[in-house]
Amino acid sequence: MHKADIIIVGGGVMGSSTAYALRMNGFEGRIVVFEKDATYQYASTPRSAGGFRQLYSTSINVQLSRYSLHVYKDFADNMAINGERAEIDFKQRGYLFLATESMMPYFAKQLRTQHEYGVPSELLTPKELLPIIPELEIGDLAGGLYCHEDGYLDPYSVMQAYRKKAQALGVEYIAEEVESLVTEGAGITGVRLTDGVMYGSRIVINCAGAWGAALSEKMGLPVPVVPLKRQMYVLDTARQLERKLPLTIDPTGVYFRHEGEKVVAGFSDDVPPGMDFTWKRSSFDTLWPILAHRVPNFEQLKLESGWAGLYDFNTVDQNAIIGEHPMMKGYFMALGFSGHGMQQAPGVGQGLAELICRGKYETIDLTPLRIERFAENDLVLENAIV
Ligand SMILES: Cc1cc2nc3c(=O)[nH]c(=O)nc-3n(C[C@H](O)[C@H](O)[C@H](O)COP(=O)(O)OP(=O)(O)OC[C@H]3O[C@@H](n4cnc5c(N)ncnc54)[C@H](O)[C@@H]3O)c2cc1C
Repeated sequence: MHKADIIIVGGGVMGSSTAYALRMNGFEGRIVVFEKDATYQYASTPRSAGGFRQLYSTSINVQLSRYSLHVYKDFADNMAINGERAEIDFKQRGYLFLATESMMPYFAKQLRTQHEYGVPSELLTPKELLPIIPELEIGDLAGGLYCHEDGYLDPYSVMQAYRKKAQALGVEYIAEEVESLVTEGAGITGVRLTDGVMYGSRIVINCAGAWGAALSEKMGLPVPVVPLKRQMYVLDTARQLERKLPLTIDPTGVYFRHEGEKVVAGFSDDVPPGMDFTWKRSSFDTLWPILAHRVPNFEQLKLESGWAGLYDFNTVDQNAIIGEHPMMKGYFMALGFSGHGMQQAPGVGQGLAELICRGKYETIDLTPLRIERFAENDLVLENAIV
């Protein structure tokens, strides 16, 4: 049997950030990352909208994003290899939740939590929104929650940078699929690959994204996470806007931002769970009137293309599930990010590395995200889920 000291299943942004953080935290043993698709065709990370925000209602999510902000700001230099910078196109153009009257009290409450952690978020009046998006239709708005430090970045570049840096630090990536996790009593002992080859390890971290819950379920440890399709649309606007957009969330949940000269938009469609990557042009019919109402320049939009990707959707409280499983020694997971994993990857990787290397969280206490919270009915109830 092949042997490793730590096996990570899934080499997306979560697995790669964790592998990198393990090395940075001094783990010197053999780390093997199994990634079944070296092209990452269906992985969620490259299909993400790339949005980054500190605008959350729960302290754990605010803290994770605040940590990520510091990482992403200096990412290009800190993750450089042999002088080659790791560009991630981080555009700090802001993040903006538009609000109707009934939404304002929720945003006012969130603001207090954000300020507690030093986030410079602001509650703006409709008129104060206009310098940010001069063309915005504000007639039906009561205001907006805004943070100028936030914005969007290129998720594929973030993932590749973590992967390359981890490899430069001696982490091995093997392009094979893990068929199942192998256990002995109440402890994990390794993984079996689809070609039957076994790898032994006393620590296995499940970072398999939307595929992760099925893997856990196979060994009798269910996780309340399902794959859920989300669609994105690339739009060409005949009439350009005066300024580049922050990542903007309409009160309906439709969101949009610039991508070069184009605009990308998306919304959380009501679809059944499943491994579905079909992109339906027809769904844009729901989106278009909302966009055209909010920014009149969008009346002359041309839908150019789009894509579908999967959320690893936590069906109970829509937040990440992180840590060691209480019933399986050595089995760790980072699953269930429900649409905000790309921005949480730096803090999650660091947290898991601390837990494994030193037995406790040090930078951010990720205990609220433990899997036990479901049985204990101690949920992480986040108001700002997109
Ligand atoms: C349309 C869309 C928009 C989004 N927008 C945002 C956003 O604006 N901001 C944000 O923060 N997040 C966003 N997300 C969520 C974000 O993309 C995810 O939370 C994040 O990418 C999860 O990373 P991951 O590494 O866990 O999963 P993935 O990137 O899916 O990586 C998991 C990897 O595991 C591999 N794998 C699976 N099973 C096995 C196996 N058995 N053996 C070996 N390898 C395996 C897969 O091939 C895959 O590469 C969005 C997601 C989608 C779909």
